[in-house]
Amino acid sequence: MQQQDDNTGAKEYQNLPSKEDAFQVDPHRVCVVLVETSHPGNIGAAARAMKTMGLTQLYLVNPVCDFPSTESTARASGADDILGHAVVLKDLKEALDGCSLVIGASARARNLEWPTITPRQCAERIVTEQAKGGSVAVIFGRERSGLTNKELEQCHYRMHIPANPQFSSLNLAAAVQIVAYEIHLASQPQQTMKLEENCEEFAPPVEIERFFRHLEETLIDVEFLDQRNPRHLMRRLRRLFARTRLLSTEVNILRGILTAAQRQARLAAKR
Ligand code: SAH
Repeated sequence: MQQQDDNTGAKEYQNLPSKEDAFQVDPHRVCVVLVETSHPGNIGAAARAMKTMGLTQLYLVNPVCDFPSTESTARASGADDILGHAVVLKDLKEALDGCSLVIGASARARNLEWPTITPRQCAERIVTEQAKGGSVAVIFGRERSGLTNKELEQCHYRMHIPANPQFSSLNLAAAVQIVAYEIHLASQPQQTMKLEENCEEFAPPVEIERFFRHLEETLIDVEFLDQRNPRHLMRRLRRLFARTRLLSTEVNILRGILTAAQRQARLAAKR
């Protein structure tokens, strides 16, 4: 039986790229997501930064300024097509729907660190993800307060642009420019990159969210998590699993374990 499973797996993955193949980023398949931007000029400047580097997909989550506006058009300096095609959405969840890899750009060092990468490593992760047919979003936070912890927890990685530790917050569009530049470099044929790992299917964010809900529920059922005093347990567990990047098959195994634990907890309660 085991043998048969292994054979099926091998067949399934035989057409996927291997470590030896070289790939480039397709910049049209990278979404730039700006969350609650408050200055229309920054939206225009971000569109300009994207266009100079060949990126085309701009998502605006709940902008807290007029959009479209003359100021964003002026600052786009001709990147009108990017602004014209920008998709305005109510919440981040909608923007991330269907994305298999989510990277959050953050200027701040957090108390509880998240797996952190540089813009260059961000481009490398994008290459690998796209080679597997996945789609990627890079999200940028508010001018005043950046991304919330909750938003960051929805990201597989935090991307930090190394900067002066005493003055590390770049202008929003400047941050977009630096990331877009690395993505552009990674899209050039002469800059082909090796894939960082072999290609099995990573679990999409919706599956991961379902897993975390199930995990929390189970930890309550087995009386490990005290709802009145949850501390940082779920955040720490999220960070732990973000470091491993779960595959779909692994999520299924873990959820099977959780279901079994819940069953035992129910039986024990009846005894
Ligand atoms: N005052 C905010 C910074 C906002 S800057 C804070 O403390 O978080 C607006 C956005 O630009 C940030 O949310 C982030 O997405 C991006 N950004 C600015 N500087 C950055 C840096 N050094 N590395 C990564 N992203 C950065």
